[in-house]
Amino acid sequence: MAAQNGSGNGEHGARDLDVVVVGAGFSGLYLLHRLRGLGFSAKVLESADDVGGTWYWNRYPGARCDIESIDYSYSFDPELETEWHWSERYATQPEILRYLGHVADKHDLRRDIEFSTRVVSARWDDAASLWHVRTDRGGEIRCRFYVMATGCLSLPKTPDIEGADRFRGASYYTGRWPHEGVDFTGKRVGVIGTGSSAVQSIPIIAQQAAQLTVFQRTPNFSRPAHNGPVSPAKKARFDADPAAYREAARWSGAGVPLEIPLEGALQVSAEEREARYEAAYASGDLLAAGSTFADLLSNRAANETLCEFLRNKIRSIVRDPETAEALCPKDHPYGTKRPCIDTNYFETYNLPHVRLVDLRKDPITTITETGIDTAARSFEFDIIVFATGFDAMTGAIVAVDITGRGGQELADKWAHGPVTYLGLTTHGFPNFFMLTGPGSPSVLSNMAVSIEQHVDWVSDCIASMRDQDLTVIEPTATAEAAWVQHVNDYGDITLFPLANSWYMGANVPGKPRVFLPYIGGVDRYRKACDEVVEQDYLGFAFEGPGGPRCHDGVIRRLQPDVAILLETMATLDLPTMESMSPEEARAFSVAMSAERPPGPDVGEIVDATLPGAAGELAYRLYRPASPGPHPIVAYFHGGGWVFGSVDSDDPFCRDLCVRSDAIVVSVDYRHAPEAPFPAAADDGFAAVRWIAANAEALGGEPGRLAVCGWSAGGNIAAVVCRLARDAGGPRIDGQVLVTPVTDCDLTRPSYVENADGYILTAPLMRWFWDHYADPAERTDPKASPLRAADLSRLPPALVVTCEFDPLRDEGTAYAEAMAAAGVEVRHRPCRGHIHTSLTAVDMILSGAPIREEMGGALRRFFGASVPA
Ligand SMILES: Cc1cc2nc3c(=O)[nH]c(=O)nc-3n(C[C@H](O)[C@H](O)[C@H](O)COP(=O)(O)OP(=O)(O)OC[C@H]3O[C@@H](n4cnc5c(N)ncnc54)[C@H](O)[C@@H]3O)c2cc1C
Repeated sequence: MAAQNGSGNGEHGARDLDVVVVGAGFSGLYLLHRLRGLGFSAKVLESADDVGGTWYWNRYPGARCDIESIDYSYSFDPELETEWHWSERYATQPEILRYLGHVADKHDLRRDIEFSTRVVSARWDDAASLWHVRTDRGGEIRCRFYVMATGCLSLPKTPDIEGADRFRGASYYTGRWPHEGVDFTGKRVGVIGTGSSAVQSIPIIAQQAAQLTVFQRTPNFSRPAHNGPVSPAKKARFDADPAAYREAARWSGAGVPLEIPLEGALQVSAEEREARYEAAYASGDLLAAGSTFADLLSNRAANETLCEFLRNKIRSIVRDPETAEALCPKDHPYGTKRPCIDTNYFETYNLPHVRLVDLRKDPITTITETGIDTAARSFEFDIIVFATGFDAMTGAIVAVDITGRGGQELADKWAHGPVTYLGLTTHGFPNFFMLTGPGSPSVLSNMAVSIEQHVDWVSDCIASMRDQDLTVIEPTATAEAAWVQHVNDYGDITLFPLANSWYMGANVPGKPRVFLPYIGGVDRYRKACDEVVEQDYLGFAFEGPGGPRCHDGVIRRLQPDVAILLETMATLDLPTMESMSPEEARAFSVAMSAERPPGPDVGEIVDATLPGAAGELAYRLYRPASPGPHPIVAYFHGGGWVFGSVDSDDPFCRDLCVRSDAIVVSVDYRHAPEAPFPAAADDGFAAVRWIAANAEALGGEPGRLAVCGWSAGGNIAAVVCRLARDAGGPRIDGQVLVTPVTDCDLTRPSYVENADGYILTAPLMRWFWDHYADPAERTDPKASPLRAADLSRLPPALVVTCEFDPLRDEGTAYAEAMAAAGVEVRHRPCRGHIHTSLTAVDMILSGAPIREEMGGALRRFFGASVPA
């Protein structure tokens, strides 16, 4: 497989190798070891003059890891577990650097590393299927595979402050610290920045400096690290079975074995919440606070409880109230910027020679020859420390001039944000891999675990190509676009986009604002990567004597929260509803409903009854908190005409009420099989007539009425619109049909594709129809509205269909049929959703924007001017 018969000098003084790896940190070292073990010729090129990466460059005072060293270490070599002993819970930079040096020595890695060598360009040669890699030393290496192990946090950000190079005193970057150290004794020191590096270094600089001034733009959440010797309990747990411990880390969310509770922060009492936060605070574990409750990174109100707890801790430590308040983060939810753990960080601000300058109030105007000028003051310094962070995740990659197929530059391809398949590869750049690249868990995890996973995946991939006589691998555009979508879908259901963080690229002026890492977790990510391989490298195209071949496709198509819900339900091993009697199914539906979040508060809720077609029907009225009178939405619940009630769809109705700013009257109707077809439709129409006639008494605006329904309720809403048209009233302003039943034909492709696995199954739909209507009756337009001869003059409609729903195609067909009949219709297909997605308020967060569209559609039906 060697590019030209193994390593050695090729034509024109160029050398040919199987693999060139850039970077000799945690990633590059392990990759070199693996590649060598597999018999590949490989070289690592490293701009530093030794191994270590992050731990080579970041020698600032106080630099240490903040994931416990037991976890933040290699697992590939079991001997390391016994021969290396961490002296502290969080090892210092020198100790981690020694560790990496030890690994390099033990595995004799240095002989294949070229130090003090910066890679400046890499160009893909399509004709030869090789990369041409150039360095600042002028040489060129040709290689079959080119791997960037250049680190997520390796390119320090140049400070965007005027006059930064004017200062005549000494200035230092935390990410490029001098090897001989810096003596701050008796000096006047300014530190710019309050991120992780600043939080670690400030307390130590303060011990030496005569004066220390900290310039803060964004305060950070930090908690005491309680550093010390490795905890005996943790060590014992690890030593009991290191292999099992490591395996648990590989299949954990963050790369560290942790118990994640199922409850949300607002589901427990204030005392319980406080107690759990106190325990997390006392633990000194970076990951403990964010994993106290299940919803801290998705629910703003839940997150705020933790924020306020941590702010109160700051207020209790820092004596000057103004300084304390300035140190309290208020502009971002906890966890959406990288939180810190510290040793005496906040206490340092109580020292008389330490002061904080809040740049939000008093911004830096310029750096001068003698110090720093802010809008209000001038400061004189002997030393300025720039703790201004990194051009994270993409910076070091695009700093190299990488040219792929057809002369495409990677920097151009990524001009609007990085685009990758699995965070490992990118379309148009064959045989190119990134370790911990954008679109992988990387910085949101214990990186030692994520690095090993990537190294193993890439090494195994290259080895498997060799075995199959394949020489070129490239992700397909389809697979890549879908992965980017999946990464964004995950980001969108979290609070991360709310923060101006380096996770979002927001710390670098001009950098596109996209969520860079993959938030789905190390475990789910690993599963996706494994499944890609199991499915014959799904989404990759191969060339070579053994090819060409390509199994194109998409590895993750469901919305992430839908996938999690289905995973959770699968573990419950629930019986199928079609195996139950109607009574059992009803009881089961009630029990399931009791478990879910309640939905938003509304102004008022009233339970009452109204006359149906054959007796009283219960209804529940939801009134908005805004002053009335309001338009009215008559709503019909789902449940296959067999079960469901005003209770079953309560959260959805609350949500609809809030988003539409209309009264929602959720009406029960008689259920099959006791009251079969056409009882439900007749009750629906009777209810709508009654609501229209009694609008004023209900607090509504007479003459402003819409209908809405979900599933079988969508069927009733659709039918009612036609009955009202034919009966000459009442007038209906609009209809919102959410994944409606519109036809009795159960053979459409969506029935076949989604027959099973997405909660509403084809057998369950059959069970519903069997209870509701005799086969001869099912084609009646009162049961199958799609079969109506005339669909013209119906109210304007929003028809919502979900991709993984047996009912998808009949909903689409109904929207198309109404549109063909001249009805104003908007069809909203929902990518990655299932039949039950949209009514699962506060469970399926990705459904919220679609529910907002439903609310908007209703408001538009009622005449409000709402942007489409
Ligand atoms: C101060 C600090 C503390 C951290 N603490 C933790 C922690 O506790 N837990 C955790 O999980 N992660 C932590 N991280 C993240 C850390 O970066 C990773 O854990 C890990 O060290 C990354 O290893 P790497 O080999 O992928 O990249 P790096 O260690 O960044 O190594 C990349 C190497 O590539 C070289 N390079 C880059 N471009 C070129 C080029 N063009 N030519 C030649 N060489 C090049 C660089 O010189 C560098 O040596 C921390 C990061 C920092 C900055």
